[in-house]
Amino acid sequence: MANILLIYPPFCTPASPPYSLAKLYSVLKANNVAVKALDLNMEFHKRKYPAFQKYFKEFQKQYEKYAEVSADYLRITKEDYASNNRMVSAGNNPELFDEMLSLILNEKPLFVAFSIVYSSQVFYAFALLKALKEKGIKTVIGGPAVNTALKDISDFHLNNEAELLAFCGKKEHSKNDALDFTGFSLTDYFTPSIVLPMKTSSTCYYQQCAFCTHHGKQKYLEFPLSPIAESITNSKQQYVFLIDDMIPKNRILDIAAAFKPMNISWMCQLKPSAEYDAETFKILYGSGLKAVVWGVESGSDRVLKLMKKGTSAKEVESVLKAAHDSGIKNVAYIMFGFPTETKDEFLETIEFLKKNSESIDLVSTAVFGLQKATEVYENPSEFGITKIIEKQRLLLDPSVKYEASKGLSQQDAEEMRQNYKKTLEKLNKYPKAMNFFREHMLIASAKDI
Ligand code: SF4
Repeated sequence: MANILLIYPPFCTPASPPYSLAKLYSVLKANNVAVKALDLNMEFHKRKYPAFQKYFKEFQKQYEKYAEVSADYLRITKEDYASNNRMVSAGNNPELFDEMLSLILNEKPLFVAFSIVYSSQVFYAFALLKALKEKGIKTVIGGPAVNTALKDISDFHLNNEAELLAFCGKKEHSKNDALDFTGFSLTDYFTPSIVLPMKTSSTCYYQQCAFCTHHGKQKYLEFPLSPIAESITNSKQQYVFLIDDMIPKNRILDIAAAFKPMNISWMCQLKPSAEYDAETFKILYGSGLKAVVWGVESGSDRVLKLMKKGTSAKEVESVLKAAHDSGIKNVAYIMFGFPTETKDEFLETIEFLKKNSESIDLVSTAVFGLQKATEVYENPSEFGITKIIEKQRLLLDPSVKYEASKGLSQQDAEEMRQNYKKTLEKLNKYPKAMNFFREHMLIASAKDI
């Protein structure tokens, strides 16, 4: 029996145990709280999509089918998620609800704590919270996607693991305990090998990109590396994804030194700054770094400057080339339609990508969306925004749209993105679904497939 049951609700990609749940589980367990972790996202997917689970668990055996199977998976799940969310909005239960609820009730928990990281988890979480409330079971929620609707239906809202620990009646603890993945059913994830999610710092140290909320204006703290190395060794896994939003050069070299003797393959996310040079990549590749997701954003210097990205197209080009030359696979994350971006600047990004296609292995594109708490939202006129329109939604926080004095509208940018879909896809050396299954990209890079 668990005093506290940790839940990760559907829907997101079921490719690895979730970092947030692993962190909470590890901290509570290390402090002698009777805790259990239940990844309902994985439980849902394994019941609903067994054929996809079977394929993804050994995709390298039939890699030639990956593009087709993964495209089907994404199309089907997108439709299913949307129809389930509509069911919840209409006051009905989503698919497999009784089974998911039974998995919770079977544990007879004193409290059920939900980790809600993505807005795509809000609907299913809402339905579960509602059912638990009706049964008189106390619930706790936390995570970046917690919103008003979830706060209203749950009993407690906590901000981090220290608050959860205090809630469980425990005092001060070490913040840097090793992660413990023993509470997860690692063989059920949709992947041939587990890619461990790890975090080496509290947040991004840069915090200046005008569109970004990831850092939450938190203080930048670097975590000691020995518990991270210990977590990897204890897990006996050989793949690691560092989910940090950004890692400065000196720090990543320390990480490389810690990882090198462990003979693992790893992947991370970085801002393409000139500090990452050929010499640095040589060391990083030698330590097992196989792939990097780069926040390239745009090929236009004016747009990069307006975004306060702190990079230039020329700088990004040389970083991508140096990484590629060292053997590292590059994923380029692009954001089209930043306020005031013109059609010519959109095309400048397309040209930038084509020109650097040799250095790019996968392109991930999105259209800018205005988010609260970003610099663009706080100072709209500085970004040519003349009007912000907020629209109430039933279970999600209000949607935020805007009008700008010049440049492409969000709709224009989306249309252009669709028009250039084929051009963009031609740049990919890996199936585009690996933008969702980044764990698979790491495994494919490491195995050189
Ligand atoms: S986009 Fe990346 S580098 Fe920029 S502030 Fe956000 S996390 Fe930091």
